[in-house]
Amino acid sequence: MSYVDEVIASVIEKNPAEPEFIQAVKEVLETIRPVVDANEEKYRKLAILERLTNPDRQIKFRVSWVDDAGQVQVNTGYRVQFNNAIGPYKGGLRFHPSVHMGIIKFLGFEQIFKNSLTTLPIGGAKGGSDFDPKGKSDREVMAFCQSFMNELYKYVGADIDVPAGDIGVGGREVGYLFGHFKRLTNSYEGWITGKGLSYGGSLVRTQATGYGLLYLTEELLKYNGIELAGKTCLVSGSGNVATYAMEKATQLGAKVLTCSDSNGWVYDPDGIDVEAIKEIKEVNRARLTEYKKYRPNSEYHEGRGVWGVKADIALPCATQNDIQLEDAKALVANGILAVCEGANMPTTLEATEYLMANGIIVAPSKAANAGGVATSALEMSQNSERLSWSAEEVDAKLQGIMKNITKAIVEASDKYGMHGNYVAGANIAGFEKVVDAMLAQGVV
Ligand code: NDP
Repeated sequence: MSYVDEVIASVIEKNPAEPEFIQAVKEVLETIRPVVDANEEKYRKLAILERLTNPDRQIKFRVSWVDDAGQVQVNTGYRVQFNNAIGPYKGGLRFHPSVHMGIIKFLGFEQIFKNSLTTLPIGGAKGGSDFDPKGKSDREVMAFCQSFMNELYKYVGADIDVPAGDIGVGGREVGYLFGHFKRLTNSYEGWITGKGLSYGGSLVRTQATGYGLLYLTEELLKYNGIELAGKTCLVSGSGNVATYAMEKATQLGAKVLTCSDSNGWVYDPDGIDVEAIKEIKEVNRARLTEYKKYRPNSEYHEGRGVWGVKADIALPCATQNDIQLEDAKALVANGILAVCEGANMPTTLEATEYLMANGIIVAPSKAANAGGVATSALEMSQNSERLSWSAEEVDAKLQGIMKNITKAIVEASDKYGMHGNYVAGANIAGFEKVVDAMLAQGVV
């Protein structure tokens, strides 16, 4: 059995209750096979793949807090510190009822390669809780965040592990987490990113993942001789990534036809009004059913349906496994040109294979949504310097990083004879740097 197959089999055996983690490991290991095969003896002896697929540390803790009715609630908190070969651990915190150890492990594993692709010195981690901020009062969210920090503060720090936001963790949550860390440690350090501008945040961080997705999409389409301007786009989600992806797509001359939340989706033939989405989601914390009040020509549908609409480019920006095989078939039948992933692992393995087999450009999340963590790393640099850069400076750096990532994934796929396979390109480019650092640092 090849080394890659041996390690995949062992990951399946050891993590039976973690299908998302197994899916992520399979996707990476299958695509880096040519690199591993070329170094099989050395990597096997040094157990490189076992060390990569077993986190450095998995932390799981109880989070008790009191709700507005005086009832004590109990949630579970997680932090998985996966690999710090190239820099301090870095990766977001997700607050969503679907969170369990397998989800955090899949996200932490992906983060290793994504962070490596940014070319910045950051390792891979992820964390979160099964707490659902939806429908909670600000006081309840604060009580939860403070209790969560009572444990998490022991494991994080500006040079150790630097979390950020993710699903369910936006500016409000980051503020409460930061405030309580400061109180517990009596220190003012940049241990989390996505902070408010008045206390160490970076300009453009809020927009960075969505903007970065569009910078990469535009660049990758150019490599394929396609113009983004004038194209129609399908977006799923209506959170942080989706909102700023829609904003930048519109600024670059594309028209966004759809967006969604976990209850339903909106179709607007005139192009989604991003300011309306911001007011509904960011200000009123309401549902997409409200959108029709702003745009009477639009349609609201319950349930799923975004991927059945005819358009040129799909930008999944909600959550994992959002595009399934049936959706991929509908997209191909409707003549889609590219699927560029804003969310983490939004396309199932079968759907990705189907899209690629039909000649669709697939920009994998590791590369396509790396603008968020890259700008987080720029926030870390500004915190270390005790300086703030202008929006123009950060945005220019973000654009440069996304262009470099595009070039890296194109070149890596070509180098190993897999022209146009950007999934493989991203995994290989990310893997090579991490392994180089692991080899240099010995058995740790
Ligand atoms: P938000 O919480 O701001 O938004 C998430 C959006 O997706 C919401 O519209 C939400 O709908 C929808 N959604 C979440 N879970 C589900 C579900 N199970 N089914 C259907 N819809 C769902 O999160 P972000 O925008 O920050 O994150 C979106 C994706 O991007 C995630 O995969 C995240 O890991 C990834 N990402 C985020 C980065 C960032 O900087 N924020 C960086 C890199 C990746 P509802 O409001 O109904 O819950």
